[in-house]
Amino acid sequence: MEMVRERLLDAVEARREELIALTQELVRVPTRNPPGENYREICQLLGARLRKSGFAVEYLRAEGAPGDCDAFPRWNVVARREGRGPGECVHFNSHVDVVEEGRGWSHDPFAATLEGGRIYGRGTCDMKGGLAASVIAVEAFLEVCPDYTGAIEISGTADEESGGFGGVAWLAERGYFSPRRVQHVIIPEPLHKDRICLGHRGVWWAEVETRGRIAHGSMPFLGDCAVRHMGAVLAELERTLFPALEKRLTETPVIPEGARRPTLNINSFHGGQAENEGNATGLPSACVPDSCRMVIDRRIIWEEDMEEVQREFTEVLERVRARRENFAYDIRELFRVYPSMTARDAPVVNTVSKAVAEVLGRPAGYVVSPGTYDQKHIDRIGRLKNCIAYGPGILELAHQPDEYVEVQDMVDSAKVMALALKDLLPSG
Ligand SMILES: [Zn+2]
Repeated sequence: MEMVRERLLDAVEARREELIALTQELVRVPTRNPPGENYREICQLLGARLRKSGFAVEYLRAEGAPGDCDAFPRWNVVARREGRGPGECVHFNSHVDVVEEGRGWSHDPFAATLEGGRIYGRGTCDMKGGLAASVIAVEAFLEVCPDYTGAIEISGTADEESGGFGGVAWLAERGYFSPRRVQHVIIPEPLHKDRICLGHRGVWWAEVETRGRIAHGSMPFLGDCAVRHMGAVLAELERTLFPALEKRLTETPVIPEGARRPTLNINSFHGGQAENEGNATGLPSACVPDSCRMVIDRRIIWEEDMEEVQREFTEVLERVRARRENFAYDIRELFRVYPSMTARDAPVVNTVSKAVAEVLGRPAGYVVSPGTYDQKHIDRIGRLKNCIAYGPGILELAHQPDEYVEVQDMVDSAKVMALALKDLLPSG
């Protein structure tokens, strides 16, 4: 191995304790979302640290974004460090929010306890461990290759767990992810240190409502039950759409295996009165429901077309209408995300792949995420196609009790990131 590459690996290795300490510091700032708390504190922690390495630091509040308010402002931090000469820019983007801790922990979720080579806590895996690894990789790179050309950016962004509208989407709308400013993006989400995530499946959320007519529950024949109408919709989904989805298979390497098929989840189902609504006796009143609502979550593989997915679902409703008297429905889109996929031979893919092989001594795997993450905004709003997720941590531990990240995984992935920087930002 080239001398400078050895020195990069050594420089990361020498920072092992610092990497642990930084991860702990980040996890100890509880940035639960919802509601989206302590964004300012964590941005300042990150900004102050990067300023010491010569980064120009911007703090940006996503004013006007959903959820932004004085009680819970959506702060983001973007730090940039120019090299000695012109060249390309490599950007590491991490979301700083975490989901609620939930129940079932045997460790304090915000203490970031180090035990048996692991750090435990909410956000260790998803994705403060990855954020810390990228910061350490950059600091090691700056020590060994101070004469690099181009620029390095690190961002800590809000709200990924709730769609990213107060974070990466907001920044992308303001040009922070335009290909003129940034050429390579690495998102250190926990896809595991030996795998490169090329993109994610798409999403279509919609709410369907069936309508009926209220009447006394003892004489339901005088009314029209909206829940029975929705029952007919469910039956038609079971009969036609679910089996049709089972037959499709993507060519892209989506993990886990089951997610290579398009999926449909019935996210919620509400008909008639809410349980115990306004009733001190705990008993409902006898009524025929005049409305039933169902929220569906359809996940879309790369080969599917968004318009076709919607048409296929509407056809289910139309088939029910053709057979059923008085069947009326509304359908309303809640949310859509197109699938995102970076080319297997994109520059950032090739570079990280080579670095993985060098550090781990085995070829990198390629995966596609079943759910979405901020790549959608970088792709669709920023129009930047050279973007991957690569970071330490085991995806399945995300959002679980006793979430943890392995210190060795963080060290290894920081080494990969440092070598990738060396290849993407040649020394002048
Ligand atoms: Zn995440």
